[in-house]
Amino acid sequence: MSNVVVIGGGVAGIQAAMDLANHGVHVYIVEREPSIGGHMAMLDKTFPTNDCSMCILSPKMAEVSRHKNITILTLAEVEKIAGTAGNFTVTVTKYPRYVNETDCTGCGECVEVCPVEVYNKFDAGLGVRKAIYKPHAQAVPNLVVRDAFHCIDCGLCYDECGKNAVLSVTEDKVQTLEIPAASVIIATGYTLFDARNKSQFGYLRYADVITSLEFERMINAGGPTKGELRRLSNGETPKSVVFVQCVGSRDAALKRNYCSCVCCMYAMKNAMLIKEHYPECEVSILYNDVRAYGKGYEEYFERAKNMGVSFIRTFTGEVQKSKDRLVLPIENTETGEFVNLEADLVVLSVGMSPEPDTVRLAESLGISMDESRFLTAEDAYSPAVSKAPGIFIAGTALAPKDIPDSVVSGGSAAAKAFLCVLERGE
Ligand code: FAD
Ligand code: SF4
Repeated sequence: MSNVVVIGGGVAGIQAAMDLANHGVHVYIVEREPSIGGHMAMLDKTFPTNDCSMCILSPKMAEVSRHKNITILTLAEVEKIAGTAGNFTVTVTKYPRYVNETDCTGCGECVEVCPVEVYNKFDAGLGVRKAIYKPHAQAVPNLVVRDAFHCIDCGLCYDECGKNAVLSVTEDKVQTLEIPAASVIIATGYTLFDARNKSQFGYLRYADVITSLEFERMINAGGPTKGELRRLSNGETPKSVVFVQCVGSRDAALKRNYCSCVCCMYAMKNAMLIKEHYPECEVSILYNDVRAYGKGYEEYFERAKNMGVSFIRTFTGEVQKSKDRLVLPIENTETGEFVNLEADLVVLSVGMSPEPDTVRLAESLGISMDESRFLTAEDAYSPAVSKAPGIFIAGTALAPKDIPDSVVSGGSAAAKAFLCVLERGE
């Protein structure tokens, strides 16, 4: 049977790959990072059930890695898609891991001896990682990766590895693969709004202003603070936390008019997690409108209020510093009251943006995008079907979505791709 190439190994791509593979189609997942999992792997809990995110995702990632019909290509990007529906040739560039993928067992002994520490992207910059590292404990594939840019070639990891799995730059090279495929699914997800573009909120100017993704890593037991909520300025536990909503969303001045769909809900989730762990902590959510549209979401909103989370309707103008605290001058637009709200920690609920690489890919394939540069479907009633025949679209590459909707979208793209395979008479 023909192949299908799924670009992006987040939850939407994983769902698409599993659905196809379970129907006998061979799937290549092309993932840019050293592990599949996407943003969901970085989250602590998931609304509206507050289940542990990795407890749901990790078994799916493991299933994908074991599936006989799935080949995972990590550190890989699609360079070109040539041909027509049913007969594509997908050119993939696979970047070197500098680790023998067959011999490495992911034991991490090399990581222990590496003396270099650099910014850890997976911990949203809050923690550090070594120059040879495993992206996270449940990474798939379960392999380390050597970051040749930061490696000082001290040789300690080579000496430590009992399998001789660490490779030098001359032993591992960039590879080009040409994969024949009946269909392609683009599930390349989103990137987060860069909070520095709302400089009035003081991100990277004030240590205690962080983004929602940084908060997710901080509250996660496997994260850089082992789940302890900390002020980055002085390491103390915050006594009050304020969430600022719609940062980089619904903002006409930035030409970002759309709602990012998930930030009202994830702020409620994180506010409730603070209340569970630190009942004395004051938690406020500064919102314009609350979007709690999904099944069980309104009840979740009520639960947050009942747990003592304050919801204040306002348009947050700026975050100021006063001695060692932060101050947000706001008008409560429901009561007309002006207050200077004090906080130890401010969390910016940043919105979703399209992935720049997806935009480039879409332009090269003639797939249309909306004014915000998210991919668009052929029509509203065929949301997985792009304007390029045989190429389907899934997950947040189309528009901001939560996890359940991303999974549905991955399944829908898989069903369409399967029809392409069948049309080849296989
Ligand atoms: P992604 O998770 O972004 O995955 C895309 C994958 O594609 C990534 O692995 C990426 O590396 C890869 N990729 C990108 N470009 C390329 C390329 N050119 N080539 C190859 N690979 C590429 N939703 C919930 O339902 N519940 C929650 O509690 C929740 N909490 C959240 C908290 C925060 C702070 C944020 C920001 C979001 C939250 N979400 C939540 C939303 C959730 O993250 C998304 O719905 C989900 O991750 C979307 O999955 P995806 O597969 O579409 O995209
Ligand atoms: Fe604003 Fe909520 Fe929409 Fe996010 S989901 S953009 S916080 S209204």
